[in-house]
Amino acid sequence: MTLQEIIDASNDIVFFGGAGVSTESGIPDFRSVDGLYNQKYDYPPEEILSHTFFVNNTAEFYKFYRDKMLCPNAKPNAAHYKLAQLEKAGKLKAVITQNIDGLHQAAGSNNVYELHGSTLRNYCTGCGKSFSFEYILNSDGIPLCDECSSVIKPDVVLYEEALDSDTIKGAVNAISNADCLIVAGTSLTVYPAAGFIRYFNGKHFVLINMAETPMDNSADLVIHGKVGEVLSKINV
Ligand code: NAD
Ligand code: ZN
Repeated sequence: MTLQEIIDASNDIVFFGGAGVSTESGIPDFRSVDGLYNQKYDYPPEEILSHTFFVNNTAEFYKFYRDKMLCPNAKPNAAHYKLAQLEKAGKLKAVITQNIDGLHQAAGSNNVYELHGSTLRNYCTGCGKSFSFEYILNSDGIPLCDECSSVIKPDVVLYEEALDSDTIKGAVNAISNADCLIVAGTSLTVYPAAGFIRYFNGKHFVLINMAETPMDNSADLVIHGKVGEVLSKINV
């Protein structure tokens, strides 16, 4: 079956995506050749984006974070918009994303499970006050709370940190009930997120990714291409 035929035949589609869903919006992923892991820094990105590093080297963390993780001009691409359209049409029940850029909601998707949090939400580690994306973007050095002067932390799941349990429950529940699972733009190497797709027991498992993934052999349909280009051709 083609992707169009699978989508036409499905009524409970769940989309599970990663950094590759936003590369067509100009946000680099981690593991492609021009991804963040292949650029040169004083520390490897996994180390900078860890809880220990955030606590011990907060200024250095924020330098990298503001420079590389915040993309204020990024706009949703064809993949984000098509998924929002499929949700409005009642065919797609949930988007589960490893991305922290908020672009699915910006495109109009409502039921989005952000497994790794969002750069759009930031909280004071002292009093819990919330701060905007712009507050962090426009801060210098370590962003501090304007009420209690404690350090502000992005609502992003860093390495060594646990995923939010309600988000996990919602995501696993959506995958378990889906008749079609579309996995796209993810290397499927970041756990526990990548493990959630094992809960799928519906009819059609589709994989759309530029590079090969460890799950290529398990999918009913594998498309090696750009997810925005592929989804833009789908009629809702
Ligand atoms: P990854 O970098 O490990 O893998 C991305 C995959 O997407 C690669 O296999 C690549 O071949 C593929 N890809 C790139 N562009 C594509 C496109 N246009 N169409 C189809 N496939 C494409 O990313 P991951 O698996 O999501 O894991 C990395 C972690 O990094 C995630 O946990 C995520 O939180 C974080 N991250 C998020 C963002 C973001 O929010 N936009 C950006 C970078 C990293
Ligand atoms: Zn505070």
